[in-house]
Amino acid sequence: MRILVVLCFFALQITPVSAQKPKIVIGVVVDQMRYDFLYRYECQYTNDGFKRLMREGTNCTNTHYPYYQTVTAAGHATVYTGSVPAHHGIIGNSWYDRESMRNIYCTEDKSVTGVECSDRVGQRSPRNMWSTTIGDQLKLSNNFKSKVYGISIKDRGAILPAGHSANSALWFDYVSGKFISSSFYGDKLPASVVSFNNKKRPHHYVQKPWELSLPITQYTQSTVDDVPWEGISDLEEQSVFPHLLKAPFNNPFSELTSSPHGNTILFELAKEIIEGEKLGSSDVIDMLCISFSSPDLIGHRFGPNSIETQDTYLRLDKEMGEFLKYLDKRYGVGNYLMFLTADHGVMDVPGFWKANKLPAYGVSDISMKKVINEALSAKYGNHLFIAAQASVHEEVFFDQAVLDSLKLSFKDIHDVLYPIVIKLPHVANFINLRDFENTPISGHLKNFIRNGYNNQRTGDMLIVNKPGTIMGYKTGTGHGTPYEYDTHVPLLFFGTGIPAGEINTRVSVSDIASSIANKLKILSTSNNTGEPVWGKQ
Ligand SMILES: [Zn+2]
Repeated sequence: MRILVVLCFFALQITPVSAQKPKIVIGVVVDQMRYDFLYRYECQYTNDGFKRLMREGTNCTNTHYPYYQTVTAAGHATVYTGSVPAHHGIIGNSWYDRESMRNIYCTEDKSVTGVECSDRVGQRSPRNMWSTTIGDQLKLSNNFKSKVYGISIKDRGAILPAGHSANSALWFDYVSGKFISSSFYGDKLPASVVSFNNKKRPHHYVQKPWELSLPITQYTQSTVDDVPWEGISDLEEQSVFPHLLKAPFNNPFSELTSSPHGNTILFELAKEIIEGEKLGSSDVIDMLCISFSSPDLIGHRFGPNSIETQDTYLRLDKEMGEFLKYLDKRYGVGNYLMFLTADHGVMDVPGFWKANKLPAYGVSDISMKKVINEALSAKYGNHLFIAAQASVHEEVFFDQAVLDSLKLSFKDIHDVLYPIVIKLPHVANFINLRDFENTPISGHLKNFIRNGYNNQRTGDMLIVNKPGTIMGYKTGTGHGTPYEYDTHVPLLFFGTGIPAGEINTRVSVSDIASSIANKLKILSTSNNTGEPVWGKQ
């Protein structure tokens, strides 16, 4: 009897340790999912999708990006490297390279070739990212036995999460309708992806119009269907349901990805990879990084207050519920670890705000490049002062050779430009990034700049627009600012070893990687700046 008690004691001591290990980690990024979308449509969500994650998992309700350039590539890199653009190097979707004097795309890599696609869309790799990802650390923890895959419609949504040592990253070719890759990961696509491509699921879905999943009268969280500030596809006459997904013959799948079918295809591919590559079937932990790009493409065109966005999230919730049930069956409840977040939020459409008397600036008629060049030319003579301007977050790069030839410092030109730029109705501040530490700006904004400022890649000056501003605005909306609507995203942890509950203190998206590493008992990422959220309230 005594021996039995002792044996049971040892069994109790040992069993929970191995039971806490998941078979697989599933990272989910919903591109452009703002925090409030979890609650905005809550009464119409099923019990099995987002609400299950919120009910049974840890819901970090106050999770923010800690930098000003809230765009897709920076967001994905931050989630998976646990770092910030200052350190992981991905300061935007693209940036101006002073040495080659051209814009560099975040994942471009001329040393690799496309696999199952042209080099134009296939010359991609994670080499511009300076840090390891959580998937890399997982592989480092067990002599590269773990399998790690990244999938997304967008290449940057697949490549940056999967990391440097991934088995593969797969993204969507709008021309062929196939999932494709680059030679960085090997000369062939994984067998499961070849099998998926052969099924031609995108060809099937592109024939199916996007119709509302509920009667139109039930979309009470949204405006009426046809409003003047919604965008429209090239081949549609009106921005209303049903959307026929008609696309130009040379780009036949472009509209498919701007519909919820883009999410459906990704769920199907995820299951095909899990089964075909036998993920979570060995004695080590595998990882699958899924990034749903379609909500972003839909959100840019129609905005967060549209019936289109509401329907997208109702469908995504339903499909997420079905995916969780599939994972339950495949691995057993509690045997997989999932997190869900977004790469950035989004602003409401300026037109919608203006119609409701909220302060918004949809700016389509001002070229900041022109304003700055003209102001400096008036003072110093005709030259092309600006080398480049970041498209979203309004960073300006000056031509160093021109400044040198005129013996001008950044302070000189900032002194000339500040009173002119600041007078524009949509501008809140104009900051000399070369000297921002000595500039009297609020600590809050200074921290955002500090985390976003990369000494090799960031521009020279920053135009800080007022909240509610979208540059280049005609219809639809955007993101890329340090404001609440762009920084505040959902963060849900669910599954193995994750308690049910809420954390309401402010946490950073950079905390995700070390939170996962802590649960897996592995070293966190090489450039980690975050800390585990566990124990916070
Ligand atoms: Zn994005």
